[in-house]
Amino acid sequence: MDQRAIFLKEVFNELMKWVERTGGEVCLRLLLKRTLYEQFVGGETPRELRQCVRKVSGAGMRCMLAATMEEDVGQERRAEEVYQGNCRRILDAIELSSDTCPSPMIQLKLSGLLPARLLVRVGDLYTASMDSRLRTVEAIADQMVKDSNQVSAFQESLDCAERDTLGKAVRRLKDICERARCKNVRVLVDAECTHLNEGLSALCLGAAAAFNSEVPVVWNTYQCYLKEADQRIREEMGLLSEGVNVCFGAKLVRGAYMLQERQRAQQQSLPDPICDDYNATSTNYDKIASFLLTQAGPRCHFIAATHNEESIRLVIQRMEDEKIDRCFVSFGQLYGMCDQVSYPLANVRQSLRRGF
Ligand SMILES: Cc1cc2nc3c(=O)[nH]c(=O)nc-3n(C[C@H](O)[C@H](O)[C@H](O)COP(=O)(O)OP(=O)(O)OC[C@H]3O[C@@H](n4cnc5c(N)ncnc54)[C@H](O)[C@@H]3O)c2cc1C
Repeated sequence: MDQRAIFLKEVFNELMKWVERTGGEVCLRLLLKRTLYEQFVGGETPRELRQCVRKVSGAGMRCMLAATMEEDVGQERRAEEVYQGNCRRILDAIELSSDTCPSPMIQLKLSGLLPARLLVRVGDLYTASMDSRLRTVEAIADQMVKDSNQVSAFQESLDCAERDTLGKAVRRLKDICERARCKNVRVLVDAECTHLNEGLSALCLGAAAAFNSEVPVVWNTYQCYLKEADQRIREEMGLLSEGVNVCFGAKLVRGAYMLQERQRAQQQSLPDPICDDYNATSTNYDKIASFLLTQAGPRCHFIAATHNEESIRLVIQRMEDEKIDRCFVSFGQLYGMCDQVSYPLANVRQSLRRGF
């Protein structure tokens, strides 16, 4: 399966290079726009995107816009203006979705708001000890209610420049969450690679602690291809619902970085964090979805973000059997993928999100 995916990617890359060599960049752009781009991208301009969101809303689906780009350790060519620009684009996505679609969500990659190296440092502080998780989350939440650009906690662990950079990132996240809460938009933080995920959780749960008191505004993402997924979601749910007494929101996915994870584990002689095979990932997914269904309610919402028909069927069946209200559970599919699943789901009025 992995080898076939790599082979297809290589064939595609070669094909695109050949089109560019023979027809030039204009020809390549035209070809991509008419094929892959129109199939998978909702629009190039706000106007095009609005039209697309309206079309999808007309078919009974809701939108989940994605803005910004991720960055990994060693790829930090970005300056503060780039992070600020990403933040503006996310704020624009909130505006656009709130005036085009009912009860929208947005997805964002936090690695587009601060340097990946700092994200790793924050992750290390978060996981340092049993108590440090709650302490870090509370320190970030506390920072969100202050009107200061420099983080006042972590004096002994981060230097002045790091605290300054973290302070600016927390400020951006606060602006995003504040706007989202005011416009009734849900903020779903994407999961990325495992070496970034602890830092992402620290920031995401910090924002949730500050903004989820009445409803789950900020949600984290859980990758079920990870062996530790079940433990992770239970810990984070406990931290928010019991530790700081706020609502919990989860996006449940299988996971998109399998090749990178396995490569990294091999290179660094670490244990492979990914389930042994596809069936083990699917068992994990269905088990965690079942657990979330036992928790679903006004203070716990979740979205089954998957194209897998079996997993979707299982969630719908359990919702029907246990009479779980649709407003607590949604389904998410990427734009241009799996229409054969999305349209029937929208027809039976399941709460369906289309990710752009
Ligand atoms: C709305 C939406 C939001 C998403 N957000 C994120 C996100 O924030 N972070 C993220 O990482 N991904 C995200 N994804 C992608 C997601 O993680 C999956 O890669 C993608 O959806 C395919 O999984 P599936 O359940 O849809 O389909 P399926 O075809 O049933 O599953 C494919 C997945 O199974 C797993 N898998 C395949 N082969 C193996 C193997 N040999 N061993 C172990 N596991 C295997 C992999 O995770 C693979 O992607 C998102 C997807 C959607 C629809």
